[in-house]
Amino acid sequence: MNSAPGLAEATAPAPRPDTARATVNVLIAGVGGQGVIMISKVLAELCRQRGDAVKQSEVHGMAKRGGPVFSHVRYGREVWSPTIPRGEADVLVALEWAEGLRWLGHLKPVHGIFICDTRRIVPPFACLDRRPGASLRYSGESLPEALAHVGEGYAFDATSVAAALGNDRAANTVLLGALSTALDFAAADWEAVIAAAVPPKTVAVNLEAFRRGRAHVEEERVRGHRPEPAAPVAAAQPQAPPAIRVEITPAWCKSCDICVKLCPERCLSLNADRIVELSDPAACTGCRLCEWLCPDFAIRVHVEATT
Ligand code: SF4
Ligand code: SF4
Repeated sequence: MNSAPGLAEATAPAPRPDTARATVNVLIAGVGGQGVIMISKVLAELCRQRGDAVKQSEVHGMAKRGGPVFSHVRYGREVWSPTIPRGEADVLVALEWAEGLRWLGHLKPVHGIFICDTRRIVPPFACLDRRPGASLRYSGESLPEALAHVGEGYAFDATSVAAALGNDRAANTVLLGALSTALDFAAADWEAVIAAAVPPKTVAVNLEAFRRGRAHVEEERVRGHRPEPAAPVAAAQPQAPPAIRVEITPAWCKSCDICVKLCPERCLSLNADRIVELSDPAACTGCRLCEWLCPDFAIRVHVEATT
């Protein structure tokens, strides 16, 4: 962290990384399913097409469980290590707010550029109380507090930008557009690589998402890039306990035991036929981890509001 002026006071963008002089380091972080790897692959392909040396590394072991996913991309004339040392990232692209904060220390202290979707995705294991409506344990930093630690930053609700285009899964492409303003590749080259990387029927929406993200940052620069106010974390409201129903399809259960071992409340077990059953319904919080983890879709969790 550094004592650079806050984003609201910054008047001049940080100098752009210069590929001719040094290795450029871009770190991309998010949670499973957000498209971290797609951003990383597009950037790596762009570098490859230009003839730069490029190394890409990624960690996504817990991706399917809502866990953190990150990727390091390093490019330039020569690149030796695939990982970015702490304090050496030229750009940090975060697809989720808390994941962005987690990696802030990797940014270059004065000239690092922070690009972040303010959308908050609270991982189930981050909450001690997993009942619907319970208060969440999540990063309490406000947007200005976080941005005070970076030389230049753009935090905005990229997911809503993509949703307005009809496909909220294109939020990663909105952030690609924002990233494109920080690196020395032509917009047309970015668009060509994106068009080849996404499913054919989503090319149009992804290209528009890219342009919106790029335009957002360019407009912010003109305005002195003042941050949007952070979307507040919804306060827990008193409410009647919901009705929770765990629906098990015995014929699909292959007795792997994953859900039994990973249910945080220990309320599942295998019966005498080694088929899963809900053995302690009162303890079930409806967190849905069992539904997400079951490789055979044998569990569905229904949580319905009661009046
Ligand atoms: S994870 Fe699915 S297949 Fe495995 S024990 Fe549980 S319900 Fe059965
Ligand atoms: S049974 Fe499923 S929904 Fe209920 S607490 Fe366990 S993992 Fe969560």
